[in-house]
Amino acid sequence: MSAHSSENGDKSGMAQQTECLLPSGAAKKWRVGVLGATGLVGQRLVKLLAGHPWFELTEVAASERSSGKSYAEAVRWHLDGSIPEGARSLVVKSLDPSLDCDFVFSALDSSVAGGAEDDFARAGYPVVSNSKNHRMDSDVPLLIPEVNAAHLDAVRTQQKNRGYHGGFIVTNPNCSTAGLVLVLKPLADAFGLDKVFVVTLQAVSGAGYPGVPSMDIHANVIPFISGEEEKMESEPQKLLGKWDGSRFIDAGLGLSAHCNRVPVLEGHLECISVALKKIASLKEVREALRNFEVCSELASLPSAVRHPVHVLDGDDRPQPRRDVNAGGGMAAIVGRVRECPLLDIKLTLLSHNLVRGAAGAALLNAELLAARGFLNHRVQARDEKQLREPVAR
Ligand code: NAP
Repeated sequence: MSAHSSENGDKSGMAQQTECLLPSGAAKKWRVGVLGATGLVGQRLVKLLAGHPWFELTEVAASERSSGKSYAEAVRWHLDGSIPEGARSLVVKSLDPSLDCDFVFSALDSSVAGGAEDDFARAGYPVVSNSKNHRMDSDVPLLIPEVNAAHLDAVRTQQKNRGYHGGFIVTNPNCSTAGLVLVLKPLADAFGLDKVFVVTLQAVSGAGYPGVPSMDIHANVIPFISGEEEKMESEPQKLLGKWDGSRFIDAGLGLSAHCNRVPVLEGHLECISVALKKIASLKEVREALRNFEVCSELASLPSAVRHPVHVLDGDDRPQPRRDVNAGGGMAAIVGRVRECPLLDIKLTLLSHNLVRGAAGAALLNAELLAARGFLNHRVQARDEKQLREPVAR
């Protein structure tokens, strides 16, 4: 199985990208900036944007340590293959909200993301963020397109509340929440959810670079990730809840999470037990997961996977090393669906923390924003100058 195909026959986002025309009404690609472009998530975004059919990378920004250098000089490249040609010579900018682009992705460290994202949104830029800072704000969509696309309606309220003109903030969930909620959604729709108990085994790349010191994590497990259990217990409530036109209403789930860091490079594994509201057989649960299919609007997005949950049959799967790239890293891979003596069912989930849990999630969010007409083409500084100074004939 290649990184771009799956057992369900889905193509990955990257494989689909070449086949996707611009959404109707769009005459040209949107120009994109990546804040935090030198970090682990930022690099993934830079890579996923290379050759994207709707978006073109025009700006990269990071800390004062990097700004002023070319991207190739500033970045410590961690991904397979070389730095995309279009990104190498871009000059890394600071976080001043005056970038030459139509919208920005934020992959900033959370110590600076909150303020910087506010600044960009206030300056008129749509901000598609990975960071935790605004996820739980009362007027900011926390978005997984396959789960709660209707929450995008909150953007207009946010702009009104905050006096933003053209700009806004949309976020994607924490890396371990993303896979969990993709799996919970079809179960919630088919049977209703009562309680969820989850234990995670999370990869080191989830902590950014350089992350956990090697002497702490080598041949070891660390049973604590600061703030992670709180995020896993609160974000699904918002994601699976409703936007009622003026506020988000929580799903009201019973939810308990234990989070552990393990010596795996990429891919978060989660052991999940669920109590359902309606009695269901294991066969019905497997079918609900396997049959989870996105609508045609979502299927037309370049990074979408038509069946976002892949159910494997082997007793010893999913495994991070073998399965993490299913669906181009955008699938939630499920195995070991079985009865739970305490709750109703239990299963094992794997999802790619840097793709489905971060860069790919943000990219899919931006594609949905583009398809729904939330992204405009900002006037470029060059164009503004030409408007002021007509070319002499
Ligand atoms: P990372 O590797 O540590 O990268 C952080 C980025 O932020 C770098 O580009 C860095 O620039 C920049 N930065 C740090 N301090 C800055 C400052 N004072 N001013 C401007 N830029 C600054 O972290 P990451 O793993 O890519 O994570 C990025 C964000 O995504 C975080 O908020 C994280 O919580 C979130 N997230 C991560 C994952 C994951 O699996 N890793 C998943 C979901 C969400 P320099 O290189 O110049 O220092």
